[in-house]
Amino acid sequence: MGAGIFEKIKVEGHEQLVFWLDKLANLRAIIAIHDTTLGPAIGGVRLLRYDSEEDAICDALLLSKAMTYKASAVGVNFGGGQAVIMKPDVPIESDALWWSFGRFVNSLGGRFIASEDVGTSVEDIEKALRETKFVVGLSHALGGGGDPGPVSAHGVYSGLKACVQKALGDTSLSGIKVAIQGLGHVGYALARELKVAGCRVYACDIDSRKSQVAGENLGLEIVDPQKIFDVDAEVFSPCALGGVINEDFIERMNFKIIAGSANNQLADDRLGKVLQDRGIIYAPDFIIGAGGLINVYNEIEGYDQARALSQAGKIYDKIKQILEFSEQTGVPTLEAAMIIARQRLDRVRKVRGLI
Ligand code: NAD
Repeated sequence: MGAGIFEKIKVEGHEQLVFWLDKLANLRAIIAIHDTTLGPAIGGVRLLRYDSEEDAICDALLLSKAMTYKASAVGVNFGGGQAVIMKPDVPIESDALWWSFGRFVNSLGGRFIASEDVGTSVEDIEKALRETKFVVGLSHALGGGGDPGPVSAHGVYSGLKACVQKALGDTSLSGIKVAIQGLGHVGYALARELKVAGCRVYACDIDSRKSQVAGENLGLEIVDPQKIFDVDAEVFSPCALGGVINEDFIERMNFKIIAGSANNQLADDRLGKVLQDRGIIYAPDFIIGAGGLINVYNEIEGYDQARALSQAGKIYDKIKQILEFSEQTGVPTLEAAMIIARQRLDRVRKVRGLI
């Protein structure tokens, strides 16, 4: 890792980095806790094949820090954490692995609350329940919120509306053209809301079955996944994978707004400034996509979907605040969101006498 491990943790302000080895369960797991000023750390559990331990540690450190800022910015009173499990080369005995992981989480006594992430499912997380109560993102049957897609989509819809208002001065979405990339849990629910609001929705998915079903059910104009960047629409909504906003994309497209759920949309954070210079409004992904976090937060307080949807609707105000701050200060929207998140953390640290 270049610098020593303590130095690496110190640089980004992390509190704790914990390792767990269970030879019998073939489990090598890491939990990073970035900051617990606002409350216990919450974060996903990523199960991936990493090239090296260093890559796994970096992922945990990076994602836990992002979670601190996400929670702070949208007013969720939890800290930032992340777990990573290094996927072994041998077949996994799933029950043993998740029970062991549950013991790991439990050993932290509630400082870290785990939810599903890339490579893990609701069923996996529910297996860990046998060993710890510090897991969220459960199915309705177990008192959880179930699929967070609709709540995430409502957050995106609300943030997108704030962007349209800023860019076009329009308070109604009726007649606005939106191009959605990805018709999965979030993209499908978003397309449904946009159609109800009177938008003209173009959409694609690399899974042609999903495109066909969504097209027929919702009345979408389905386009080839290779052509989605060329659609003549005011809004582009990335709801598939990260990294889609690169220099080629920016050269090629004519959208006025980018507002979607995908995590880490910018191939490089510096592109936020390129978008700003070209007059394109970019809704920071970690804010507009915070509905998933809001959904699990509600689980901790006693799940009620109407309440979760109402809180996700407040992403409208948050995006509006960020766009105004960006305009007043001249900083790109991604940076504006980070500043706003940091300011809240600092205020809470002062109130709690931590600084
Ligand atoms: P999902 O896996 O249900 O859906 C993603 C869809 O994108 C799939 O249908 C897939 O076939 C499609 N896809 C993949 N590559 C594509 C491409 N190049 N072109 C077109 N379609 C493509 O995932 P999801 O839960 O809907 O999440 C979508 C994105 O939003 C992800 O980046 C996720 O990390 C992020 N996100 C999700 C939530 C949530 O609540 N599910 C919350 C916040 C952020």
